[in-house]
Amino acid sequence: MKSGNGPAPAANGPGATVPVPSNRDEAGPPSQAEVEQAVRTMIRWAGDNPTRDGLADTPARVARAFQEFFRGYGEDPVEILQRTFEETEGYDEMVILRAIRFESFCEHHMAPIIGRAWVAYVPSGRVVGISKLARVVDAYAKRLQIQEKMTAQIANVINEVLQPQGVGVVLKATHHCMTTRGVHKPGTDLVTSRMLGCFRDNPMTRQEFLTMIE
Ligand SMILES: [Zn+2]
Repeated sequence: MKSGNGPAPAANGPGATVPVPSNRDEAGPPSQAEVEQAVRTMIRWAGDNPTRDGLADTPARVARAFQEFFRGYGEDPVEILQRTFEETEGYDEMVILRAIRFESFCEHHMAPIIGRAWVAYVPSGRVVGISKLARVVDAYAKRLQIQEKMTAQIANVINEVLQPQGVGVVLKATHHCMTTRGVHKPGTDLVTSRMLGCFRDNPMTRQEFLTMIE
């Protein structure tokens, strides 16, 4: 039986392929030294000398930056949303947090995705502190993402934990893999949305939400 199609990939360079585990690395997280070595390899591959003065501390800095860029893997959106307030005097109108700035990275190129999120829900009894909505956006943004998936994840987790009458999420973002490389189309942004419950079923609720997004 043939094992794969076409010629074997090159052992080095951009055509090389490495086996990718289906989920998290089963061998456990790599050490700081391994990460720094990987960055040195990338610098050499790009054509520079990782031992020159200006680059000597770069691998350690990149490792620290990655901890910040991808801190969402250590955050649990369900837990963030779990503390709710029930004494709301029966408030049952739309709650909307507008234009939440987020920074993410596309999972195809690891290039920045810079955008804003509009997150709305109509409570049925329980509300969360508004900062929690922003933290949920960040918890998903600070991972390797595609915008469509991130939009759905935000809406789904709010729907599951708060069990509101409905949820609406709109994301607008610029993808640096499209603006600074590839087709080079600056000025474009991608808009994605997910509507659940009354946002999906009631045209007036949906319209009220969309009107708030200018
Ligand atoms: Zn990309």
